[in-house]
Amino acid sequence: MKVLKFGGTSVGSSKNINNVINILENYGKDDSIACVVSAVGGITDKLLLAGKQAQNKDRNFVKTFEFIKEKHLSIIKALNPDNNLSILKYAEGRHNSLKNLLEGIFLINELSPKTSDKLVSYGERLSSFIIAGTMMNRGLSAGRKNTQKLIITNSNYTKAEVDYSITNQNIKDYFSSAPQNITILPGFVASSKTGEQTTLGRGGSDFTAAIIAAALHVEQLEIWTDVSGMFTTNPKLVKQAYPIEKISYQEAMELSHFGAKVLYPPTVQPVLSLDIPIHIKNTLEPDAAGTVISNEDIKSSNPVKGISNINNIALLTLEGSGMVGIPGFSKRLFETLSQEKINVIMITQASSEHSICLGIEDKESKNAKNAIDAVFENEIALGKIEPIIIETGLSIIALVGDNMKNHQGISGKMFSSLGKNNINIRAIAQGASEKNITAVIDEKDIKKALNTLHEQFFESKTKQLNVFITGVGNVGERLVEQIKQQKKYLKDNLKINLRVAGLSNSRTMVFDETGLDLTDWNTQLANGEKASLQDFFEKTRALNLRNSIFVDVTANADVANLYPQYLRESIAIVACNKIACSSDYNNYKELKRLSLKYNAPYLFETNVGAGLPVIDTLSNLIASGDKVNTIQAVLSGSLNFVFNNFTDKTKFYDIVKQAGAEGYTEPDPRIDLSGVDVARKILILARESGFKMNLEDIENTSFLSESGLKSDTVDDFYQTLIADEAHYQSLYASAKLNNCQLKYVAKFDNGKASVGLQEIPEGHPFYNLEGSDNIVMFYTERYPKQPMIIKGAGAGADVTASGLFADIIRLGND
Ligand code: ADP
Ligand code: ASP
Ligand code: MG
Repeated sequence: MKVLKFGGTSVGSSKNINNVINILENYGKDDSIACVVSAVGGITDKLLLAGKQAQNKDRNFVKTFEFIKEKHLSIIKALNPDNNLSILKYAEGRHNSLKNLLEGIFLINELSPKTSDKLVSYGERLSSFIIAGTMMNRGLSAGRKNTQKLIITNSNYTKAEVDYSITNQNIKDYFSSAPQNITILPGFVASSKTGEQTTLGRGGSDFTAAIIAAALHVEQLEIWTDVSGMFTTNPKLVKQAYPIEKISYQEAMELSHFGAKVLYPPTVQPVLSLDIPIHIKNTLEPDAAGTVISNEDIKSSNPVKGISNINNIALLTLEGSGMVGIPGFSKRLFETLSQEKINVIMITQASSEHSICLGIEDKESKNAKNAIDAVFENEIALGKIEPIIIETGLSIIALVGDNMKNHQGISGKMFSSLGKNNINIRAIAQGASEKNITAVIDEKDIKKALNTLHEQFFESKTKQLNVFITGVGNVGERLVEQIKQQKKYLKDNLKINLRVAGLSNSRTMVFDETGLDLTDWNTQLANGEKASLQDFFEKTRALNLRNSIFVDVTANADVANLYPQYLRESIAIVACNKIACSSDYNNYKELKRLSLKYNAPYLFETNVGAGLPVIDTLSNLIASGDKVNTIQAVLSGSLNFVFNNFTDKTKFYDIVKQAGAEGYTEPDPRIDLSGVDVARKILILARESGFKMNLEDIENTSFLSESGLKSDTVDDFYQTLIADEAHYQSLYASAKLNNCQLKYVAKFDNGKASVGLQEIPEGHPFYNLEGSDNIVMFYTERYPKQPMIIKGAGAGADVTASGLFADIIRLGND
């Protein structure tokens, strides 16, 4: 004998019912079968909706009823195109009495739990009849038995408790002489000893099947549903979730208690003591292995078995100094809740006994508050305890695993990965048995939390990064192209799943929660919505994706001003924009503080030397306890280009123009030629070395002519270059006379910094610096005489993009 149960989706359409019949036919070849079925998918909800509408004097209940009827009739006709009269006739009768019941509810405008059970029973009674009737029509040895005649309960309507002695006997008696091979039974429904219709609780068809399996002592119970087993977490919310091959009864119970809807929690109870395994299978993919729930001692390297969640939770807090050391408070609290039939899902108690915190269903919270406030009325009046506090809109998230107790650090990992992603934890509970660790969080964070924890405990090898890039110009474009090209490599070799979730230039912006398809990102961006810096931030925040990174590829002060907002949302920042780091010292410090506080890294390697690892090297020196004494550097690719090409045979104006044309200078060349850009860079290096300094503190001796310094516009400036050629030639002539090269040098020495043009003699490390190369020499306590030198291409779109990319990857390796 086999016991199978098919859920709502499995019997939700004629196509799926045909699948079910095929499976039963196959199984029924060499064994007899008890097959429990749910109502057609969605019908129970619709029945309850019609009941509520009728109760509220809303005549729309008729429409809802018509929908239910139509759904059943269309399934019957599709399954039995030629021979459907008897089934239709039965359905007609059921629908008529259902309509009468709804009219009755409408008239008296009342829907008691007792009537509600009568109402929802139509779902399973009809589905079981349709399936059994269809099978008989097709000549199979099938029949239907109404479970209401077998399963006997108390009168606790909507969630009745089973009387096992009568029920087990009824089931054994019936099946000992059942005439047909395949018996179809409605799940969920039962009746009381007085003959009233009852139900076993929402999702209760699983339980019906377990009761029958236990009564008949079968070898295995099969629960057929719409997913291929019990998953590591809800597959509807986490794409990477996968089916668990084997799981213990306890783990399955914990997961379902904390929301894994695939199994109704009481289902395990009847089969547990008889050691009957439960096999969860997928009706839509019958060949998939599914999940086996049993007593088998399962060895697994991962102590966490699954993660589940329950939404619509309210947190109820009873607090007050009067509770400390006085017994009986909890007892009264729980008694009150029990009298009100309020289910407590989780409990936490501060060790001081000063407060107790409970998780219950949102919809029960008002009732709970009224009842508890009434019971503790005296204590509240005397100020011993506070009126109960209720917070709603919450979710419970639970890690489950029998073996978690033998492993240290699981809760640490759980809370730190949630914290890193700015998920606020409102309450925590961990039972002494440590089969679960639960936390209460805001419902809005649930998807992110499940994905974060799933990644942490089940995909430990892959880390997903979600980048939001602003400023897709010259450098940004290269960055996107590099990401596109390296995506697969990163996944295969570094286990980083890098996704571009947002892109913006100054005109448009585009987002995709699942990561943009980068093959045609230009078109998608061009067709995007109108860009706005604030909207870009709001969108990024609203998507609420784990490991979010904001990448600033602009040189825009308004973008830099938004960094605090990003950091406060725990969104990391990678920037080549130097403005924030070289702004007022207090602002720089505040960004560092926010970055620490919100656990959101702020990386800006490309602020100095483009892609060269200057800042990373410096931070490693400092972190390992070294101290910087002196820095000498050539940090401007543009000025290098200019002075490497300027001779007595060229014109200064022509060279500056050429540098602009080849993209080595900013559109306004004064930013480079005045030395401001270099000053910003040495300022950043000094700050990163631990010195408090502002831009005004840096001595800047300009090589520009007086009129060049005073020019108001870019055009005026270019005119001064022509007019003052003699001034620039004199700089060259002097250097030549001294056998030197002109280099624009930045220096930091014991707290003082300066920038300016210098004549560099032969033999100096700067002398042979070519093209747009940069060089930085760090003299530190550990490198007192021979400096640590970093040298290489210090400008250009490709190297800057790869520097940004390196920062992003650094976050992936975090
Ligand atoms: P049925 O109607 O077959 O009883 P349910 O809708 O009650 O099916 O349960 C199956 C659903 O449970 C899945 O479609 C899935 O959305 C949800 N679910 C939640 N958590 C899990 C999990 N850990 N594993 C599998 N399914 C889950
Ligand atoms: N039809 C019932 C429900 O939707 C029982 C079940 O499907 O398990 O809750
Ligand atoms: Mg179910």
